[in-house]
Amino acid sequence: MKKKDVVKKGINKKEYKIFESLLLTERKKVIQNLMNLNTSDLAEQNSGTGEDISDYAETGTDAFDIQIALSLASGESQQLQEIDDALERIKNKTYGICEMCKEPIPRKRLEVLPHARFCIQCQSEYEKQQDSLY
Ligand SMILES: [Zn+2]
Repeated sequence: MKKKDVVKKGINKKEYKIFESLLLTERKKVIQNLMNLNTSDLAEQNSGTGEDISDYAETGTDAFDIQIALSLASGESQQLQEIDDALERIKNKTYGICEMCKEPIPRKRLEVLPHARFCIQCQSEYEKQQDSLY
């Protein structure tokens, strides 16, 4: 009952900061990708209507994020959502815990995929389920 030497190396709360900054970096990258996809549109808008942009600035980054999310239902905005969710989990101190089996997600996996919400096993379960939907 006791010899299941737990090599489940989850992360501890002290490491939240590290992963938080990883997530924020990744978030920036994704946003930049989104911006690049939209570059031509934005450039046109910027030239004439700089005023309108500052309206968005007033309401903070959330409105800006929503705008991006709305304008692009692509894999990238999906990824942005994943990252935001992960940041939320850091706030709620549930980060690094698999949402399906409630076991710690291995550190290595989080390093590669900081916004992972499942451990590897559950991820493949999840993907199987998704596949069977189509
Ligand atoms: Zn799991």
